[in-house]
Amino acid sequence: MRMKRAESDSWERGLRMYRDNTKVIQIGNKKIGGGNPILIQSMTNTKTEDVEATVAQILALEAAGCEIIRCAVPTMEAAKALAEIKKQIHIPLVADIHFDYKLALAAMEYGADKIRISPGNIGSIERIKAVVDMAKEKNIPIRVGVNSGSLEKELVAKYNGVTAEGIVESALDKVRIIEELGYDNLVISIKSSDVMMCAKAHELIAKETDYPLHVGITESGTLYSGNIKSSVGLGIILYQGIGDTIRVSLTGDPVEEIKSAKLILKTLGIRKGGIEVVSCPTCGRTKIDLIGLANQVETMVQDFDLDIKVAVMGCVVNGPGEAKEADIGIAGGIGEGLLIKKGEIVKKLPESELLNCLREELSNWNQ
Ligand code: SF4
Repeated sequence: MRMKRAESDSWERGLRMYRDNTKVIQIGNKKIGGGNPILIQSMTNTKTEDVEATVAQILALEAAGCEIIRCAVPTMEAAKALAEIKKQIHIPLVADIHFDYKLALAAMEYGADKIRISPGNIGSIERIKAVVDMAKEKNIPIRVGVNSGSLEKELVAKYNGVTAEGIVESALDKVRIIEELGYDNLVISIKSSDVMMCAKAHELIAKETDYPLHVGITESGTLYSGNIKSSVGLGIILYQGIGDTIRVSLTGDPVEEIKSAKLILKTLGIRKGGIEVVSCPTCGRTKIDLIGLANQVETMVQDFDLDIKVAVMGCVVNGPGEAKEADIGIAGGIGEGLLIKKGEIVKKLPESELLNCLREELSNWNQ
């Protein structure tokens, strides 16, 4: 049953609660926080020093819908490469720095739109101050990152292990250090590969700070487990109105991260647009290669910028009825299939023509 409009509106308002009230932070040509749309991030897995490969990957990610990109900066050569990379891409570039404050300084010098540091591994307060001073001078936001895997020993002892409370305390301590140096152009990220601990940590920190939060489940695994863990974790966190930018971390092609992130946002009703494909699970009535067809349809619809629902159903017995809520769909028969619009059968076609017919219909879509 469809939700009544009033219920749907209040539910959507609930989804926006925390993120409506976070501080607005400008990252290159994009704004995050303060109710701005949740932006999708990813991270390159090329060598940043290899400008050509890194730019090619970023352009592919942009085409998929990536809105902020982060590159590892482990060497001075990588920091210098940022200048050339930036000229060839169109989305904000974030430099990911660990340990060496000089790399953070160089990354900002060479044009990073934001830097991600973990103050805990940058070293002395003088070094952190040098980074903060340059960020302040150039008005470059700093993302303060804390990972459960590197929680300070004192906090592990205080909370009897690695806990959500410990992660939050660690993150807020780091933020305080930077605030005391006179800078508040900050974004916070707290990460844990333990999904429920990560969700709890976000619930806690959202009540404590109004800095925008970058949300992701870290080290979540391969395409299969990473997608499931990220969907559950991000679903819980975003549903509570928490999170201003997201990343789905997958051990795989980063383009897959973008596809998953977009689907998570759409599934939660936070982002609209794009074709949604619904397909039946198949059963003993299925007489066509529905699994193959559904996969082909899912790939094919990515070429279209339409906000509609497409159904791919396995049989003519239940298919048309089950596809009623879709704008257009196909239902399989024996070596053939039906084209259905809003639950009405409009055409019968051989199985081999179903995909092309659907593509043709979408090309001429004007409703
Ligand atoms: Fe089975 Fe038909 Fe339902 Fe698909 S639509 S699950 S083939 S009954």
